[in-house]
Amino acid sequence: MREIPPTAGLPLTWRDLFPAGASLEQGLAHFIHVPAVQITCSGTAAQIITLTTLKRQSPRRKVILPAYTCPLVALAILHCGLQPVLCDLQPDHFDLDHDRLAALYDANTLAIIATHLGGRVANLSPVLDIARTSGAYVIEDAAQSLGATWQGQPVGMAGDAGFYSLAVGKGLTLHEGGVLITQDAFLRQQFQATAAEIASFKWLWELRHSLELLGYAALYQPWGLPFAYGLPLRRALQQGQLIKAVGDDFSDDIPLHRVGRWRKAVGANALKRLPEFLDALHLQAMQRLEKLAAIPGIKIMQDEPGGKGTWPFFMVLMPTQAARDAALRKLWGAGLGVSRLYIHALADYSYLVDRVDKADIPHARDFAARMLTISNSLWLDETKFEQICQEIAAAI
Ligand SMILES: *Cc1c(COP(=O)(O)O)cnc(C)c1O
Repeated sequence: MREIPPTAGLPLTWRDLFPAGASLEQGLAHFIHVPAVQITCSGTAAQIITLTTLKRQSPRRKVILPAYTCPLVALAILHCGLQPVLCDLQPDHFDLDHDRLAALYDANTLAIIATHLGGRVANLSPVLDIARTSGAYVIEDAAQSLGATWQGQPVGMAGDAGFYSLAVGKGLTLHEGGVLITQDAFLRQQFQATAAEIASFKWLWELRHSLELLGYAALYQPWGLPFAYGLPLRRALQQGQLIKAVGDDFSDDIPLHRVGRWRKAVGANALKRLPEFLDALHLQAMQRLEKLAAIPGIKIMQDEPGGKGTWPFFMVLMPTQAARDAALRKLWGAGLGVSRLYIHALADYSYLVDRVDKADIPHARDFAARMLTISNSLWLDETKFEQICQEIAAAI
């Protein structure tokens, strides 16, 4: 059996495993078109370094974030001793409801997190306008959007700080890793100082992630993925453990350490193929968006005006939860790369429920209930993609 991964990650070649002298920091700065980047041990670590630094610049303590996003974003805010404030989404949309945002915003707001979810570019203009009225910071969560732009500049550079994830399944990967960028030279220096203070080199973590990266190199192939991804997925689905199935089972234990030289070298090697890879994904996405648009009753998430995103997968909003679940009964676990993103709106995870305010977030809950994802992996061929389209149409 061949297994399609739920997101289109860049496969490694055996040559990538041998350091060739390229610098990941320089390569990424060149690729993203920024003066410098900071490599961190995860996207979450990049967020913690950012928030720890900003907390020292200001007495404000609230951080506003979308009510539907990676639960790690909320855990990172809590880790820093800050208060997460959930902002609802627009109806039928991944982006923040900007009227809600304006209402939630107050003089105690340290930062607003705008999320370019799943490669889709958010509308930053209203967020920047609100933040600038009284001096909150804007952090762009571009975890899954390395290579995306907004108004012609890389995502992460319109706000005060932005981060990308180099975790497994997010495009370019060190198995775990992150990239922190900022347009502000002062903050750039502060972020480096904070990282030096809170994230030291831990060889056991490095060994573990190095072995995992080797495993990724070996198994991130259609014939290896049934073992690495498909079997655990199907077991979790059989047991009804949906949070485990998508890997949302996070804890407060957030590792903070430095990334070793070998993993950076592997990333620097793989990075050389990333532009071509992202172009191929874009091309495939444009063709498949047309086919998806022909299915009545569904809505596919697109970039907001000014945005040019990347295409790791498609976010498909079904007309009802019943139709979404009917489609998933056929497709999730079938090896076709159909999945869900995060299972719940943030307030509905057991490990967050008592730690976020009882927010009014109907649209985020509705989005979580009706959305499914279709992989844009290049291994998903036309026949399989047609099969997915037919099952989705049948479920409606
Ligand atoms: C994955 C992800 C993160 C966290 O990144 P890690 O590298 O896994 O720590 C944050 N936000 C979003 C939207 C993500 O998808």
